[in-house]
Amino acid sequence: MRILITNDDGIHSHGLRVLAQRLGKLGAVSVIAPDRERSGTGHAITVHHPLRVTRYPTFAEGVREAMSVDGTPSDCVKLGIEAILSQRPDIVVSGINPGPNLGTDVIYSGTVAGAVEAILSDVPAIAVSTVATSVTTTDLEFMSDWIADLIQMGRRSGFPDETLLNVNFPACSPDQIKGVKITRPGVRRYRNVFDKRIDPRGRVYYWMAGDPVDLDQASDTDAGAVFSDYLSVSPVKFNLTDTQTLDTVSRWGLSV
Ligand code: MN
Repeated sequence: MRILITNDDGIHSHGLRVLAQRLGKLGAVSVIAPDRERSGTGHAITVHHPLRVTRYPTFAEGVREAMSVDGTPSDCVKLGIEAILSQRPDIVVSGINPGPNLGTDVIYSGTVAGAVEAILSDVPAIAVSTVATSVTTTDLEFMSDWIADLIQMGRRSGFPDETLLNVNFPACSPDQIKGVKITRPGVRRYRNVFDKRIDPRGRVYYWMAGDPVDLDQASDTDAGAVFSDYLSVSPVKFNLTDTQTLDTVSRWGLSV
C-alpha cells in the first residue's frame, strides 16, 4: 500500500512524524508537507510563485521519502499526486493536528484541506486532529495505530467515493475514550474574533483569534462526541450543491 501523509503544521510537526513512522508498518510512506505552519489556510493553492521542494533523506525510521514544499497542504497533495510521486497513493492521511477540526472549522482547516485535495483526485483520504493541543508521543502513537486500523478497515470494506473521513480524538487519555461515534459536523462559530490593538506608531491593527462556540453539540455531532470523550469520525463530502434549493430556484421562472 502506498500512503501519502501531509499536514498543515509543517514538516517538523511532532504529530506528522509519529503518524508517518507508525503508518510505515502498513505500507510505503511518502511525506509531503508544508515547510512551515500553514494552519487555517483552508483550500488555498499557490499560483503566484513557484513551488520549491526540499528533501529530507533521514526524516524518520520506516518512512520511504519525505519532503517539504513552500506551499499549502493542498499544494503538497496536488503536487505529490500529479508531479512528484512515481505512483498514485492508495490513501492520503493529513495530520495529526494538535487542536480539533470540528463543524465549520473544516472550511478553514488546512488539515482537512489536505484530505479534500485527495478526494478531488479520487484518492481516499482521512484528516486527523485531536482536541488536545499538547500531546505526548505515546498518545500520538495510540492515535496513529488507531488510524492504521481504520485504513485497514476502509480497505477491506471499501472507502467511500468522493468522501473523506474527518477524525477527531477527544482530549482525554486513550484509556478514557468511551468509544467511537460516527457523526455529522456541527456548527462552530467564534466569539470575540478580532482583538483591536494600537501599534507603537499609533496605528490600529487587528489580530484574529476568538473563542470557539459550538452552537450544535447534539450527541450526533462531532463536537458533541469529542466533548463527551468519544472519538468522532465524520464523513465529509464536497459536493456543495443544494439540490432542494436548485429545484426551488428553478421554479422562480428566471429569464433574460
Ligand atoms: Mn494545524
